[in-house]
Amino acid sequence: MKLNTTPRVLYYHIVADKFPEIYPYGISVSNFFKQLGQLKRRRYKFRSLSEILANPKRFNDKDLALSFDDGFSANYPVLIYLCKEYNIKPTVFLIGKCVDNKEMAWNHKLLLMKRYCSLAKLSAEINKYVPGATISTLFSRIEMSEKDEITDAIWNEVMPFSQSNYLQKHKPFLSLTQIQSLQKAGVDFGIHSWSHPDFGRLNYSEAYTELDLCFTQNEELSLSFKRYFAYPYGRPAQKDIETKLIKNFQLLATFGISYGLGDNRLPYTRWQRIKMDSSKLVNREQFLVMPWLRSIKALRYNFQ
Ligand SMILES: [Zn+2]
Repeated sequence: MKLNTTPRVLYYHIVADKFPEIYPYGISVSNFFKQLGQLKRRRYKFRSLSEILANPKRFNDKDLALSFDDGFSANYPVLIYLCKEYNIKPTVFLIGKCVDNKEMAWNHKLLLMKRYCSLAKLSAEINKYVPGATISTLFSRIEMSEKDEITDAIWNEVMPFSQSNYLQKHKPFLSLTQIQSLQKAGVDFGIHSWSHPDFGRLNYSEAYTELDLCFTQNEELSLSFKRYFAYPYGRPAQKDIETKLIKNFQLLATFGISYGLGDNRLPYTRWQRIKMDSSKLVNREQFLVMPWLRSIKALRYNFQ
């Protein structure tokens, strides 16, 4: 019996030989192309997300789409290379406020503070704003409506340089010119929210604003984006909120990361993606085993 015949969407954050301080996790360029080579040898085919979403029924689990989250400039050479040399058209999900290095998101601020500031000093500051929280529990303890205000306040206390100076010096995100040249090369763009919140903890009006700011900016900058939305951290909005977002913004698909049996088919609008830029073992697990484990778990849950 063949259980899983749905196309798969893979996602990466950084494919580079030097990871940026603002997000120092990813896969090296040589390991990435090794991975693609292995998949090609196993007869997987690379499709663009738009090709798959136009008619998912035509594709099966041997069809893969590549996507990249957050819009880091470190990926620029690889993205161009994929289009021009491999004829693979990836999709990049951009964080609205980070486009053209205007701002960084709260999770980037925290990563940089962890790098530049002693843990004791940072913990003391966090405790002032969110009593009882630590650097590792802050994600779940902080109110989403206060995440930017609080991380900015902590930054101002502990960091030796401003956020705008850092962004100007390091330019960790894709510039407008880079986005335009990637678009010309065949890369598609989707949205990844305005400020990278946990959508599971947003009410409808907050979730609406997150998407509205992105679409308004795209219009102002004359950028053509696909109506695809990848949830930050893969954490989806509550079902009724998602339904309203899909209707209001005419979203063609939303993307989570809890891949399981029966996902990635029409009329299902939420697609699941598989993280591919961690260690080799995790990649194998994620790619080959996790969908099955999740399916078994879901079946067991349904029969209880
Ligand atoms: Zn992200």
